[in-house]
Amino acid sequence: MEVPFWNKEIETLDRPMLEKLQLQRLREAISWAFRTPFYQKRLPQAGITGPDDIKSLPDLQRIPFTEKDDLRRSFPKGLLAVEMKEVIRIHSSSGTTGIPTVIYFARDDLDRWTDLLARCIVATGASAGDVFQNMMTYGMFTGGLGLHYGAERVGMTVIPISGGKTKRQIQTMKDFQTTVLHVTPSYLLHIQSKLGEDGVNLADLSLRRAFIGAEPHSENTRRKIEELLGIDAFNSYGLSELNGPGVAFECVCKKDMHLWEDAYIVEIIDPISGQAVENGQEGEVVLTNLVRRATPILRYRTRDLAFLHPEPCECGRTHRRLSRILGRTDDMLIINGVNVFPSQIEEKIMKIPEVATNYQIYVDKKGALDRLTVKVEIYPKLFLGEVSKLEALRGRIREELRSSIVITPNVELHEPGSLPISEGKAKRVVDERPKD
Ligand code: ADP
Ligand code: ZN
Repeated sequence: MEVPFWNKEIETLDRPMLEKLQLQRLREAISWAFRTPFYQKRLPQAGITGPDDIKSLPDLQRIPFTEKDDLRRSFPKGLLAVEMKEVIRIHSSSGTTGIPTVIYFARDDLDRWTDLLARCIVATGASAGDVFQNMMTYGMFTGGLGLHYGAERVGMTVIPISGGKTKRQIQTMKDFQTTVLHVTPSYLLHIQSKLGEDGVNLADLSLRRAFIGAEPHSENTRRKIEELLGIDAFNSYGLSELNGPGVAFECVCKKDMHLWEDAYIVEIIDPISGQAVENGQEGEVVLTNLVRRATPILRYRTRDLAFLHPEPCECGRTHRRLSRILGRTDDMLIINGVNVFPSQIEEKIMKIPEVATNYQIYVDKKGALDRLTVKVEIYPKLFLGEVSKLEALRGRIREELRSSIVITPNVELHEPGSLPISEGKAKRVVDERPKD
């Protein structure tokens, strides 16, 4: 297999060199952090008075975690390390779980971020000459502009179409013979379900790859996308607090995502004790941004659950691979005392062939008990068959789910297109239980 690289030297740096670079950059990041009101206060409280207190990489653990609430409380400029006139871009998070957080970029910050994205793109085998339709929302959300700049740097032809307007997306894919898409997996499945409605079929298109990210999805969802569209789909992970996309991305091997360790230090911790987990174990991802000046962030608790692959990747890159995101510590549902992650539900239903492309998790209360309903869209022809077959399918889905999440949900079957869709991040869970 031919392995393409954007910056082979950095991407294949041996471990000792990589760690040396990390230490040097960590010390620089700490001196930048000391320019922000937030860390000026926070670091001395932990006994850190400057970069000289960090003599080795394990010393990182002396630095306290930074949490989303710290960023919110520091709004708007508590984490700003440069003068405003040096800031050339402001981004914010999508606000999936509350007030959005804000990130400032100086010119060099944007340049370095763009370069990370160029690395990601090239690692998938995409290159100059590809036509790149960027269906992530433009605006304050980092998914749109982030990849846009990376794709231009690689020399792809960029179509900055942004999200939504499904018919126009499909027509544009045909008009410009788009080869690479950037999109949330849920919206891509929706688009696929609309192919053919206005006379544009898959055969009229030239799609080869999709970069899918911004929301949790299972391996079964990836497979479904790949099979339905006849393309390769690559998982893309990032969060605005750490720039946005470009933190970790799959290479041509498609066996989870290289996390760029020259730009980030990754730790996996037990979300309850805050201690590092054993090598290769699952836990919360904690990230330190080593190369962003305008908004330095140290040991950020992402609330995303994943693990690191200890073994190297066949592509030769030395930067370790992060698993698919298994859930967010804050999207866990507690149903009658049992912890349920939406990702467990998705993984099960997306491998059932009768299930089409959309689903929703609905929670309410009946009397004193929580009630979980999983609504799934199934292919329309199934509704033409016998009712007993539908009942059997419902039972099968219920049983699959029960084997994974322990509780038995109610399952509803719906026609395609009947459940709500989102053009950006999917909103999979509707929780109508009264809040106390
Ligand atoms: P918000 O926290 O408001 O959604 P962002 O827009 O910065 O803010 O989104 C970052 C979050 O999106 C991540 O922390 C993660 O939970 C989720 N995410 C991003 N990419 C992926 C991915 N490839 N797989 C699963 N979840 C992802
Ligand atoms: Zn690889």
